[in-house]
Amino acid sequence: MSVNTELERRLAAVRKRIEQACAAAGRSPARVALLAVSKTRSPAEIRAMHALGIAAFGENYAAEAVDKQAELAALGLTWHFIGPLQSNKTRLVATHFDWVQSVDRDKLVRRLDAQRPPERPPLNVLIQVNIDREPQKAGCDPEAVEALAESILARPRLALRGLMVIPAAGRDPAAAFARAQALYRHLAERVPSVDTLSMGMSDDLEVAIACGSTMVRIGTALFGPRPAAR
Ligand SMILES: *Cc1c(COP(=O)(O)O)cnc(C)c1O
Repeated sequence: MSVNTELERRLAAVRKRIEQACAAAGRSPARVALLAVSKTRSPAEIRAMHALGIAAFGENYAAEAVDKQAELAALGLTWHFIGPLQSNKTRLVATHFDWVQSVDRDKLVRRLDAQRPPERPPLNVLIQVNIDREPQKAGCDPEAVEALAESILARPRLALRGLMVIPAAGRDPAAAFARAQALYRHLAERVPSVDTLSMGMSDDLEVAIACGSTMVRIGTALFGPRPAAR
């Protein structure tokens, strides 16, 4: 099978899983965005995925992403930064991305706001929550969401859109997703710009959709197994 036929088959399978999960949850598939996670993937693979109708891509490594973005600039893709964010990388993210999903402390908020170029629209921001309170894991504690949200709302160059979570590996994610849904509802009730709950990956998108996810981030199920972890 050619690479493109393989991608087409994988994309159809992922779309079908999303539709079935939405049907089971009584939700509209139009309310669940599909973000293609393209870390470690080549510009050619991203181009092929775009030709199949995908326009939003998620990247974890800022420098790697910027090279690919330059090569693919003519396609007008939407780029989400989803990896752990170090403060020395905020300028790259503020300059080259449309969304950042991994904001978890006020220092990042201040830097991203100051560094967002004036000619670009405000940077869309999701607060990453360490929903299982794992040590050493990216994301703020659930209690810190409120203060961080207030800080983001006060910044003219940032637009608060919602929350992102990555549940602990190796256990049933349903409880974590349900807690994230409760936090998200509380935030969305108060903040009109909040419309995005980013949760669900290749292995758990069904559970995430049952718990109200509005954006699933899918890598392996779309592009195939990743080359060795880095
Ligand atoms: C790699 C990654 C994904 C995609 O994971 P898959 O299991 O390959 O679908 C989603 N979100 C984040 C933050 C990631 O780093």
